[in-house]
Amino acid sequence: MKESIYDVIIVGAGPSGLFAAVNLGATGLKVCVLEKMNSAGKKLLISGSSQCNITNADPIENFIEHFGNKKNFVKKSIYNFTPVDLLSFFRKSGIEFTEDRNGKIFPASRKSRDILDVLLLKCRESGVHIVYNSAVTSVENKDSLFNLKSVSGKYGCRYLIICTGGLSFPMTGSSGDGYRLSESLGHSIVMPVPALHSISVYEYFLQDCSGISVPDINVILFRDRKKIAANRDDLLFTHAGLSGPVILNLCRYVRKDDCIRIEIAGVSDQLNEKFKNLILKNGKSDSKNALLNLNLPERLIISLLKHYGINGSEKCAVLKKEIIKKTIEVFSSLEFKIKHADDIKTAMATAGGVSLNEVLSGSMESKKCANLFFSGEVLDIDGDTGGYNLQWAFSSAKTAADSILKKEMQLKIH
Ligand SMILES: Cc1cc2nc3c(=O)[nH]c(=O)nc-3n(C[C@H](O)[C@H](O)[C@H](O)COP(=O)(O)OP(=O)(O)OC[C@H]3O[C@@H](n4cnc5c(N)ncnc54)[C@H](O)[C@@H]3O)c2cc1C
Repeated sequence: MKESIYDVIIVGAGPSGLFAAVNLGATGLKVCVLEKMNSAGKKLLISGSSQCNITNADPIENFIEHFGNKKNFVKKSIYNFTPVDLLSFFRKSGIEFTEDRNGKIFPASRKSRDILDVLLLKCRESGVHIVYNSAVTSVENKDSLFNLKSVSGKYGCRYLIICTGGLSFPMTGSSGDGYRLSESLGHSIVMPVPALHSISVYEYFLQDCSGISVPDINVILFRDRKKIAANRDDLLFTHAGLSGPVILNLCRYVRKDDCIRIEIAGVSDQLNEKFKNLILKNGKSDSKNALLNLNLPERLIISLLKHYGINGSEKCAVLKKEIIKKTIEVFSSLEFKIKHADDIKTAMATAGGVSLNEVLSGSMESKKCANLFFSGEVLDIDGDTGGYNLQWAFSSAKTAADSILKKEMQLKIH
C-alpha cells in the first residue's frame, strides 16, 4: 500500500487536534488529521450538556489555579493563548458568547455544534485533510520521519502531534489509544484515573431530590476525621448521591469511605441566628413553610424533615427547644460516607496520561523524541469543571502549532 506523506500529522480530531490543524494548515504546511471515528469532535459536541462551556472569565492568575498541582505546566500555554484570545478567534467567525453567574462562558447559541462547525470550516479553508474512520494503530520514528499505520492506510510525516484525548466517555473515540502510541515512542504514562465525576454515598435517602440543584453550598471532605479539602459551589442531588460543580471539583481528593459534610443552609452558628429570626417572624406559620425562607427547594426541605422525623406542620411559636436544635443540626451539617466514585467511563475527564516530566511545557514537544508533540487531554492534566479543560485543549494545541512553525522558520533560515 502506498504511503501518504505530509509535513504534519495530527492524531485525533477533537478540539485540540482540530485547533492545531487550523493553526498549521493556514501557513501552507501539508497537514493531515487522522480520526478514528466517522466524524470529528464527538466529545466536544456533548460538552457542557451540548452547550459547550468553552472557557471561563476568571482572571488569568486565578485561571491556572484550577489545574491543581499542574498549574506550572499549563501556565505557559494558557498565557501564550489566553481565554480572551480563544474568544476572539471564534468571534472573528461570528460566534457570540454569554457568561453565567459563575463566570462560565458558552456560545450565546448554547450550541457546541457552532464551535465545532467553525473549527471544521477553518480546517477546510486552510486545506487541512481530515481522514475519518482512520484509527492509528502504530507509529515508529525512523530517520527523522514518523511512519504511522492506521485502519485507512500508511502515512508518513516530519512532525507528529498526538491529540487523542483521555479515557473517559470512550464512545466518543477517546479510549486511551494515545497512551499506547506514546509509549511506543518512549513515553511513560501516569496511571489514568477518573476526574470530574459524581459520587454515590452509603445510606442515601434523598432519591426524591434527584435533579435538584442548590446554589453556593459549602462541602467539606474528611478522612479519619481530618479535613482533606473543601469547596463552595452548586450542589446537585442525584438518584444515588451527589454531583454538580462543588462535587466535581472536589473529587480529585475523594476516596471510598471518606466522609462528606454538606452545609445545606450555612454553618450552625449562622443558622442559629437565622432560625431564631425565622421563628420570631413566622410564629403563626408551620416550620416547613418558615424553612422556605432559607431559599431551599421545598422538595429538599420535605425530604430532610421526613427522614429525620421532624414534624414540619408544627407552628413555629410552639416548637420545642430540642426540635429547633435538631432542625438546625440537620440543615447545617448533613454527613454521608462515600461508597463509590464514578468510574473512568462516566467521568467527565481523565487525570493521568502522558507524563509531564517528559514534555517541554513551553513547546509541548517530547523530551524523548524530536518533532513529536502532544496537546489536550492525552497529557497528565485535568482542570476543574468550568471551561478549564477545553481552554487547555485549545491553548496547548496553539503552543504545539507555534513550536512547529518556529522550527520550520529556523529550517528556512539555515
Ligand atoms: C460529558 C462531558 C462534558 C464535558 N463538558 C465540558 C465543558 O463544558 N467544558 C470543558 O472545558 N470541558 C468539558 N469536558 C471535557 C472536554 O470535553 C475534554 O477535555 C476535551 O474534549 C479534550 O479535548 P481533546 O481534543 O484533547 O480530546 P477529545 O475531545 O477526547 O478528542 C480526541 C479525539 O481523538 C480521537 N482518537 C482517539 N484515538 C485515536 C486513534 N488511535 N486514531 C485516531 N484518532 C483517535 C478520538 O476519536 C477523538 O475524536 C467534558 C467532557 C465530557 C465527557
